[in-house]
Amino acid sequence: MIELVHEPVTVHALINGEKVDTKDKITRENPSNPSEIVGYAPLNTKEDTVRAIDAADEAFKTWRNSSLEERIERMQRAIKRLQDSQKEITELLSREHGKPVYDSEGELYVSIAWMEHACKTAKDVIGDDVREDENGTTIIKHDPIGVVSAIAPWNYPISLSTIKVAPALLAGNTIVVKPSPLAPLAVTVVLDIIAEEFPPGVVNVLNGEADVGIEMTSNPKVMKIAFTGGTETGRKIMEAAAPTVKELTLELGGNDPAIMLPSFDPNDEKAMRRLVVSNFLTAGEICMIAKRIYVPRSMHDQFVEKYIEAANKWVRVGDPFNRDVTLGPVNNKKQKDYVQELVDDAQANGAEIHKLGEILDPELFEKGYFMQPTLVVGAKQEDRIVKEEQFGPTVPIVAYDDVDEAVHLANDSIFGLTSSVWGDDQEAIEVAARIEAGTTMINTAAIQGLDVRYEFGGVKQSGVGREYGEQGLKSYVNIHIINNPNTKDLPHIPE
Ligand code: NAD
Repeated sequence: MIELVHEPVTVHALINGEKVDTKDKITRENPSNPSEIVGYAPLNTKEDTVRAIDAADEAFKTWRNSSLEERIERMQRAIKRLQDSQKEITELLSREHGKPVYDSEGELYVSIAWMEHACKTAKDVIGDDVREDENGTTIIKHDPIGVVSAIAPWNYPISLSTIKVAPALLAGNTIVVKPSPLAPLAVTVVLDIIAEEFPPGVVNVLNGEADVGIEMTSNPKVMKIAFTGGTETGRKIMEAAAPTVKELTLELGGNDPAIMLPSFDPNDEKAMRRLVVSNFLTAGEICMIAKRIYVPRSMHDQFVEKYIEAANKWVRVGDPFNRDVTLGPVNNKKQKDYVQELVDDAQANGAEIHKLGEILDPELFEKGYFMQPTLVVGAKQEDRIVKEEQFGPTVPIVAYDDVDEAVHLANDSIFGLTSSVWGDDQEAIEVAARIEAGTTMINTAAIQGLDVRYEFGGVKQSGVGREYGEQGLKSYVNIHIINNPNTKDLPHIPE
């Protein structure tokens, strides 16, 4: 286990159970104070990737025959060790990522909740099933698929890796995992812990840039790709996977609408706080955060006033290690600049920009990639800040005239990940049914309404397939029907 000191930590690649060092390294800076180096991760190459895939392919020959009971037992041991290492893992995550410690704890909590749920339901969902009736016997086998490539983004590195690793291993696959170079450290510690509970070669971990990802998604020995990241990268992965027709699960970008119905009460402080949290948790760097708010024109001014009041109470920007802080810095400069570009564009088009909340440590604020969250009032549907995925601490408000128009504007997007409808429960449920999305939440949004027991994923260009829920396990098996019918010949086939 890595000692948590402020000295930089070094994580290694893991290939066939061996820790592998590289000459060139990824240097991860602290987004709160970029002059501080948090640690180093290996900069793996295409050659390392081929070795890791070969190791996974070799390990699969044996691992595929392990029993479901053995896989569950091993996973439960890994879960216990992750729980015991919570402090080290979450503090390292906050230091390299920039999210406050409570938020890192939340990420590990959700990761473990899913791993536990996958263990609990695995027998029912992917255990072999035998059906016998007057027609004969049919065995519904759930075969592992083979070598899985798992590629994760930087915003939720631990949960978006374990969401893939747990079901892949429980199903009897072997795996090669690549986190993002923008948050490689804590997740590599987590993956090392999991890997130690499984035979060598079952879990392999690489770090690196797109060249590693390209090999992981095109190598003929890889049978399935589980990817979370941007839609543009998702398109490239579909192309890379096409020549060898790999199975795909793609969790891509989102631009989630929040529709406030005329029955929503802007004086409901608790609901308003939930909305603010669903816009600015993890500094807005979540695929499934509410990224554009649609408000009835007649309620608009009162809504803006009450929203600003609620945001000013909740938003406290500062050092991720200060427990009073609700938002840390943005993870990287490129993302900060992009968010600023969208805000400036909206302002140039006539929108008003309201700064929200409090900056707790102005000196630190100047050093790091901090941004004061903003509310963009008077945004138009065609503004970039409404059309594009901002993935940062700003949110636009768009006024609408009637609910049909709100539904139309919400659906007017290439994305369809999550969404939310706020107001009278029954009315909100009816409107929710008209939204094009993988999930629609009622009077809550983002992670607050996430339930790992049910499927999560996107429609349209937000992705292919589902994670979590039964489908989150089933998408790591091939259904193999072994049929022994009583009647072997069909009566209508001529002799
Ligand atoms: P990204 O697509 O830039 O990178 C994701 C991963 O893909 C990284 O590990 C990267 O190194 C790797 N990669 C880059 N090019 C590749 C290639 N050609 N082939 C294979 N791998 C390649 O995304 P990001 O900036 O890390 O993450 C932000 C994006 O992720 C946002 O769009 C966000 O909405 C999306 N996201 C989606 C979900 C979801 O569940 N739908 C969850 C979190 C984030």
